[in-house]
Amino acid sequence: MSLFEELFDEFMDKAKIVADTATRKTGEVVDMGKLKYEIKQTQWDIEKTYAKLGAIVYESRKSSENYDEVIELAISEIDSLCNKLQELEQRLRAYKKVIKCENCGKENDKNFLFCSRCGSKLQKEEPKAEEVVEAEVVSSQPEEAAPQEESAQQEQE
Ligand SMILES: [Zn+2]
Repeated sequence: MSLFEELFDEFMDKAKIVADTATRKTGEVVDMGKLKYEIKQTQWDIEKTYAKLGAIVYESRKSSENYDEVIELAISEIDSLCNKLQELEQRLRAYKKVIKCENCGKENDKNFLFCSRCGSKLQKEEPKAEEVVEAEVVSSQPEEAAPQEESAQQEQE
C-alpha cells in the first residue's frame, strides 16, 4: 500500500465520520466551553482537510491518475465543515448575547441597533428553523402599500 493509498483510505473514513457528525447536528452542544471547543476543533478540521486536498491535488498532478472524485469529496467536506463552523459561531454569539457586525466583524451588544465601531446598522441574526416559532404570519399587505419614500419626498420640495 502506497503512502497515498493510506492517505486516501484515511480520507474516506474521515469523510464518513464528518457526514455522521454533520447529521448529528449541533443541537446537543450545551455550554459555552463546549461550543468554543467544537469551534476550535472544526477550524482545525478545516485546516487539515485543506492540507489533504493539497496532497491529493499534488499527487494527481504528479501521476496521471484521475482523482477528481476524491477532490470533489474533499471540497464538499470543506464546505460542510465551513457550514458547521458558521452555525457554531452563530450559536456562540447567541450565548454571549452579541451580534456580529456584517460590515466590520465587531461583536456588539445584542441590544445595539448600530455597530459601535463602524456605525453600520446591525442585522439581527435569524435563529435556526427549530427556534423559529411564529414567523411568516403577516405578509398579506398589498405591494403598493410601501412606496419609495425618498422619491416621493423629493417631489414635495
Ligand atoms: Zn461595524
